[in-house]
Amino acid sequence: MTDADVVLEVRDLAKYYPVRRGIVLKRQIGEVKAVDGVSLSLRKGKTLGLVGESGSGKSTLAKLLVGVEKPTRGQIFVEGRDVSDLGRADRRALRRNIQMVFQDPYTSLNPRMSVGEIVGESFAIHADAVPAGGKDKAVRELLDRVGLNPDHVNRYPHQFSGGQRQRIGIARALAVRPRILLCDEPVSALDVSIQGQVINLLEELQDDLGLSYLFIAHDLSVVRHIADEVAVMYLGRVVENGADTEVYDRPGHPYTRALMSAVPVPDPTLRDDGREIVLEGDIPSPLDPPPGCHFHTRCWLAPLLEGSADAERPDGRPIPAVCRTDSPKLVPQESPDHHAACHFAADAARR
Ligand code: SF4
Repeated sequence: MTDADVVLEVRDLAKYYPVRRGIVLKRQIGEVKAVDGVSLSLRKGKTLGLVGESGSGKSTLAKLLVGVEKPTRGQIFVEGRDVSDLGRADRRALRRNIQMVFQDPYTSLNPRMSVGEIVGESFAIHADAVPAGGKDKAVRELLDRVGLNPDHVNRYPHQFSGGQRQRIGIARALAVRPRILLCDEPVSALDVSIQGQVINLLEELQDDLGLSYLFIAHDLSVVRHIADEVAVMYLGRVVENGADTEVYDRPGHPYTRALMSAVPVPDPTLRDDGREIVLEGDIPSPLDPPPGCHFHTRCWLAPLLEGSADAERPDGRPIPAVCRTDSPKLVPQESPDHHAACHFAADAARR
C-alpha cells in the first residue's frame, strides 16, 4: 500500500466526553472515552468494515470523520491533507468528499420534503457541485442511478418502501460527487431480503464511481460480504484489524472469535469447531472501563490459560495477571498487515 492509495486516515483519534455532576458548579467527575486512540486507513476504491457491539465507539468515530464532533486528540487526513490544518472554506470543500449514509431510512429523511428536495438538498451548501445540466436534471439522474423511477421525484418518503428509502439516502449522499461514503449500519433496519439488494447497489456504485467505503456494522456476515479490510472495535479501541481473509480465517483476538461464532450459519455443525462462544454480560461502561485489557471481564480465553491463577476477575474466575494490569497493543500476526491487541493472540487463534 502506498500513501497515494490512502484516501482517509486517522491517527490516534480520541473523543472524550466530560461527565459532570452538580446543578450550579457542575464539577467534572470523569469522562466517557467513546473513542480512545484509534488509527485506521481507508484505501481508494476499497471498503473498510468497522464492526463491534453497540457502545463500541463506531458511530462516534463516524461523527468525528464528518465533522459533527470535534476530536479530543488525534488527526484526520483526507486525501493526505490534515483536516485540522485547514481554514473553514477548505475544510468544507474537503469534507464534501465524505458523505454519510445513515442507518435508519425511516428517520433520516425529512417527511415534509419531496424526494427531489431531499436529494438536491446538498446543492444548497455546495453550489459548485451542481452539474452543468442543472440541479433538476442531476436529481433525476441520481434517482435513476440508484434504481428509482426519476418520475417519482415529487413523491414523499412515506410513499416508498424501506429499501427504496435507503436508495434515496444513497442518492442524497452521492449528489455532491463524494469520493468516500461513511455507511453507518446502512442495512440493519432493512429486511434480510432487501439488505442484499442495497449491498449489491453499493458494490455496483463502488465499481462504477471508484468510491471508498467505511462500512460500519455490528453484523459480521454483512461486513464479510462487502469489506476488503476489517477493523474490530471494543470500548473505543481497535482490538483487531487486517485484510478480511486474515481476520475472518485467522482471528487473533478472542472478541473477534466470539463475534464470528455468533454469526448464524445454515448448519452450526459446519462451523470450524462446531461451537458458539457466548460472551457473558454487557459491554462495560466507557465511563469506567476495566483496567488492563478492557475485554478481560468478558474474555472466554483468559480463564483457560496457563498461569490463570495469577489474578481474579470480578466474577471470581482466575486469569493471568497481565490481562488485568497491562493494556495490550495492536501487534502484527502471521501477516504483517494483520494486527490483534491480545497478550495471548496465538492461543486465541489455536483454540
Ligand atoms: Fe483476553 Fe487477556 Fe487477550 Fe485480553 S489480553 S483478550 S483478557 S486473553
